Amino acid sequence: EGDSGADRRLQTTYQAGGPVMINTILVPTDFSDHAQRALDRACDLARQLGAKIYLLHVQSESSLRTAIKQGLLDVASTDENVREAVSHLIEERVSQTLSAIDSSQIVLEHTTRRGDPDSVISAYATEVGADLIVMGRHGAGFIDEVRAAVIGSVTEAVIRKSPVPIMLVRRDHGE
Ligand code: ATP
Ligand code: MN
Repeated sequence: EGDSGADRRLQTTYQAGGPVMINTILVPTDFSDHAQRALDRACDLARQLGAKIYLLHVQSESSLRTAIKQGLLDVASTDENVREAVSHLIEERVSQTLSAIDSSQIVLEHTTRRGDPDSVISAYATEVGADLIVMGRHGAGFIDEVRAAVIGSVTEAVIRKSPVPIMLVRRDHGE
């Protein structure tokens, strides 16, 4: 008996009229306060359901831009330095993210991948056999309340591509 995504999917195949089993929850994070709130709600849910959480960060082109903007990277750095600095930065942010949650009774695995966030998130949902994705309605690119009516572009794309249901969390949910 393995614990691969495929095995998990077999265990949790949805049957109409049967109990809805949520054993595996995927939480994609861009380290924004919106995503942090989504993780908080996912932890509450995971505790109640006894589900496991997979926390995923996708390193995209904009991770680099953000790092430069925050003065964490020198524009003149060599490629090697940049790569090292970015992975160090991500590690740091993952630790911050994890230390900010109530981790009692939580089973959590975290991973970083590279690529196009929405494609990677959808593919990873299939890979781990996620039964639910819990994510922010907005993310780090959220500018002001004027744009609050529009959901983030990653969220929108994941909604289109996701193989499983999605729970969207606003940063004021459960304050
Ligand atoms: P936009 O990026 O379109 O300007 P935004 O930053 O406000 O707007 P999204 O990027 O769609 O909105 O972020 C919404 C949610 O998507 C986040 O709260 C997070 O859950 C997830 N997300 C966004 N980017 C990433 C990423 N690089 N890796 C993992 N999850 C992400
Ligand atoms: Mn974004």
